[in-house]
Amino acid sequence: MTEKTAVSRDAFDRVILPVYSPAKFIPVRGKGSRVWDQQGTEYIDFAGGIAVTALGHCHPALVAALHKQGETLWHVSNVFTNEPALRLAQKLIDATFADRVFFANSGAEANEAAFKLARYYASSKHSPYKSKIIAFHNAFHGRTLFTVSVGGQPKYSDGFGPKPADIVHVPFNDLAAVKAVIDDHTCAIVVEPIQGEGGVVPADPAFLQGLRDLCDQHQALLVFDEVQSGMGRSGKLFSYMHYGVTPDILTTAKALGGGFPVSAMLTTEEIASVMSPGKHGTTYGGNPLACAVAEAALEVINTPEVLAGIEERRQQFIQALEAINAKYHVFSEFRGQGLLIGAELSEKYKNRAGEFHTAAAECGLMMLVAGPNVMRFAPSLVIDFADIAEGMARLEKAIGMVA
Ligand SMILES: *Cc1c(COP(=O)(O)O)cnc(C)c1O
Repeated sequence: MTEKTAVSRDAFDRVILPVYSPAKFIPVRGKGSRVWDQQGTEYIDFAGGIAVTALGHCHPALVAALHKQGETLWHVSNVFTNEPALRLAQKLIDATFADRVFFANSGAEANEAAFKLARYYASSKHSPYKSKIIAFHNAFHGRTLFTVSVGGQPKYSDGFGPKPADIVHVPFNDLAAVKAVIDDHTCAIVVEPIQGEGGVVPADPAFLQGLRDLCDQHQALLVFDEVQSGMGRSGKLFSYMHYGVTPDILTTAKALGGGFPVSAMLTTEEIASVMSPGKHGTTYGGNPLACAVAEAALEVINTPEVLAGIEERRQQFIQALEAINAKYHVFSEFRGQGLLIGAELSEKYKNRAGEFHTAAAECGLMMLVAGPNVMRFAPSLVIDFADIAEGMARLEKAIGMVA
């Protein structure tokens, strides 16, 4: 087999477990918010690797951190600690409510740690029967068996059972439904402040505050999954900062490493205190390479200039989407926070987000969907205004092809 056929798109259908259906082109290079495929065709990137490449492709600060750490120390395991992990943990603590950090490698792993910690805290401090987890319809928390079971989309967890027990799902943004199921056997409520995969649906402020109050009444922990909404995506470092509601445990991943796999679970001293050496762990979590890159990403993102620029860019996105909609009437609503934007398709185009997505790629635009009815945009937080304009011109062309 020649090298060319080995790396063609057809090869995917022969060699990769068929759990994805990737686009027909293969990206080979990226710079900022532009990406090029094997044929040299250029794309504007409004997808950001699913809210991951928050500083675009090959950001100089991240490349420099990776080079430097790559020539210094790659991996020592958690039998030893390392300087980048300690620095990153301190910076996350300084920037948030948290006192303690656990590092892992993916969003699912950070959530797995969060859910285990919530159960362990309840069984240590209260009772082994305090195990109920309340979660929400359409929530997404990852693909390990525990996290996919806490997630609220049975199509992702059915057929993999028996599922972990004592997980209850109720409608998102429905406080009465939570009140109806919460009791003193509840150890945690798990929620995304903005449901991402579930359609880019922000929580109502009164709903999140209500969850906080219910958790306090029942000595349950409030867990915010900010894997997608965190690290600046919402326009603040974490989405909970918009709401003024502080969780007991928060998870972050996706943008944390700007494209280098790394995740973190943040919590308080009190909750962390139930853990002891050997109770939980990971080989790669907190490795020097990942933490050095994440430290650089945090340093760039958590600045007034970058955070303020997110709202400005959101305005440009929304204005452009509204202008397109005035011509084509494809959207019924724009949702989200910061640069996590969901555009709900109108009745006439119901279930056709995939068609728009394919047309966009043909017009040189990478974007996302969130379910069959929502077009989702999660671009770089520092995307050039000119790239937004060009991407929107391509989107308009794509929409014209379908509508
Ligand atoms: C993507 C995502 C996850 C899972 O992260 P992985 O890195 O894919 O394991 C969990 N929660 C939310 C909210 C996500 O968007």
